[in-house]
Amino acid sequence: MKAIICEKPGNFETIEVPEPTPSESEVILRIRKIGICGTDYHAYKGNQPFFSYPRILGHEISAEIAEDMAGFKAGEPVVPVPYLHCSQCKTCKEGKTNCCPNIKTMGVHIDGGMRELMPVPAMNVIRADGLTHEQIATVECLAIGAHAVRRSSLKEGQWVAVAGTGPIGIGILHFAQIAGAKTIAMDVNDERLEYCKNVIGVDHCVNALEEPINALKEITDGNLPDSVFDATGSPAAIENAFEYVGHGGRLILVSIVKGKISFEDPLFHAREMTLLSSRNATHEDFSNVMEALRNNHIDINPFVTHRCNFEEVPEIFESWSDPSSRVIKGMVSL
Ligand SMILES: [Zn+2]
Ligand SMILES: [Zn+2]
Repeated sequence: MKAIICEKPGNFETIEVPEPTPSESEVILRIRKIGICGTDYHAYKGNQPFFSYPRILGHEISAEIAEDMAGFKAGEPVVPVPYLHCSQCKTCKEGKTNCCPNIKTMGVHIDGGMRELMPVPAMNVIRADGLTHEQIATVECLAIGAHAVRRSSLKEGQWVAVAGTGPIGIGILHFAQIAGAKTIAMDVNDERLEYCKNVIGVDHCVNALEEPINALKEITDGNLPDSVFDATGSPAAIENAFEYVGHGGRLILVSIVKGKISFEDPLFHAREMTLLSSRNATHEDFSNVMEALRNNHIDINPFVTHRCNFEEVPEIFESWSDPSSRVIKGMVSL
């Protein structure tokens, strides 16, 4: 069978590999679609810090069961949760499998989905009936936003601002809206803000280069938002975001950046701000996303902007990784 492997930064090879033999706790998945995200582009460019090569990329996976196994039937559509947790540690036992200290993510720490068949622990496979394979391949990406929103425990009618409206920010906005919040999209890219207005139907858009604090105050009757989510990947933007949070509000850091971030403690204390990080997602978040997709709360047609076949990945990846291609979500078909 075929696999596409990232041999070293900037280089994909299509190789022939033996079909996998599953261990007792694993099932074999036949891969159908793979969503491509920032992590993959960083890995390809060589600026993903926890990465070693060669590596098969792909963690946003849609698949079907290859053969009857572990209670699954051949052909059933499934989504693998790509974060392999250990189930043994204190964190896992508390149900926080998304931040298990022993976590191994498919396509990052271990080989991912860019291959025809893939063995996955049965406990990491969730049934995904009633969804198209393209919808299934967006579940992981959207689950990051669903988890962040669940973690923020925002309440209906509250104001939420989301800084950074790439695929992760888009997911956060959708789930904030589903939770009944009033939404503000913030970005420096007006085209992305147009998307948020036209496709998601956010209440307001703010260009972060144009006196954003004044704009936020105006929208919220001077109070500033109850929750601010960062999905920018920019240390400077994160530091600015501390100023966007209203008194008693929350700042949820979804994107991860290298190094330190700093903030003014008097401002942080005066507002009795709560600072949270959000990492990965749990099975519950995956299920919530699938429910939202089944109920047509999220339309992925405008979200998936670029498509290609498996064989085309080595030649097309470079152009997708270029922001001028205006990719939101690229999708690979097998
Ligand atoms: Zn991803
Ligand atoms: Zn664990």
